[in-house]
Amino acid sequence: MIKDYNEIVTDIIKYSVLGYNRFLTIADSGNVSCRYGDGLIITAGGVSLGEVTKDTVINVDMNGNVLSKQTNIKPSKETKMHISIYKQCSKVKCIYHVHPVHATVYAIQNKEIPLLTSTSKRKICSTAIVPYAEPGSELLANYVCETLKQTGNSIKILILENHGIICMAETLTECFQLAELLESTAKIALMMK
Ligand SMILES: [Zn+2]
Repeated sequence: MIKDYNEIVTDIIKYSVLGYNRFLTIADSGNVSCRYGDGLIITAGGVSLGEVTKDTVINVDMNGNVLSKQTNIKPSKETKMHISIYKQCSKVKCIYHVHPVHATVYAIQNKEIPLLTSTSKRKICSTAIVPYAEPGSELLANYVCETLKQTGNSIKILILENHGIICMAETLTECFQLAELLESTAKIALMMK
């Protein structure tokens, strides 16, 4: 089912706020987007995911040009990263980037998160680590794209070294559930140590 602008914005608000309230990210970190038309709708930079509203999401094209009329907000600094994923992987319709504490412990150690539970084995299957580059940089967008290519575009979760995670799926519901499951899996793995 193809969703219209308002339905997509409603989804972005719902899962941004939910992710913030579930401690999947803090302060003004994290960004969420969905494909829309020939471009995407993405959360604004400098706005907490806990406070996303219809006035703080922005429509941009696949070159990063702003199509929305608001002039007081800017798209997330990770817009390049989102665009590079959409260009690389046609089946990805939504992207959820957050900094959950336990998963980020593994990201800092540059280690895969052990998938110890049957649910994580079944639903996550595997993850891949993206080498460190400064958040918001062209280089990070390139590394993300390269890593996706190396996995044959098959992967749904990327671990960003020293940074956080990216979940990619057809719906934001799936993205959010992957993020929540991965964070829970990382917490379990750390408690087992
Ligand atoms: Zn980030």
